[in-house]
Amino acid sequence: MPSIRIGIGFDVHRLAEGRTLRLAGVEIPAEAGPVGHSDGDALFHAVADAVLGAAALGDLGEHFPDDDPAWAGADSGRLLGRVVDMAREAGYRPVGADVNVLLETPNLAPHRDAMRAGLAERLGLPAGDVSVKARTMEGLGPVGAGQAVAAQAVVILEPAPHI
Ligand code: MG
Repeated sequence: MPSIRIGIGFDVHRLAEGRTLRLAGVEIPAEAGPVGHSDGDALFHAVADAVLGAAALGDLGEHFPDDDPAWAGADSGRLLGRVVDMAREAGYRPVGADVNVLLETPNLAPHRDAMRAGLAERLGLPAGDVSVKARTMEGLGPVGAGQAVAAQAVVILEPAPHI
């Protein structure tokens, strides 16, 4: 009998002026946004990495190489949806998730509920079952210098009947 599985995920993107900052699919007004092959949504990427980890299906770069034209500029919500489907094909579905977003500016507090809803939707869960937290790095390191956005995620999967 398969049991509950846990996965950890991480992502980081360099920031550049004039790029759109998107986290959990929510467009956030900011002076700089992520440089990336897809839309650079670090929150969705960290959660997708954690889902893959929980299902022991490898890592994100393996399944979505950053030279694959199919994912150039792609909505990372689609990528997370694909990963959730892969977990389901392996016999698991999400139970809950907790995410830390590390960003110096802007303050993400006004967007927290929207990010939570965006994540819950992609995981097929009620918003009450997912958590999105945000913090700065207090000026330390590349995130603190405003040069990067990072996200950490933990996801729990439970056995799901095959469809
Ligand atoms: Mg990424």
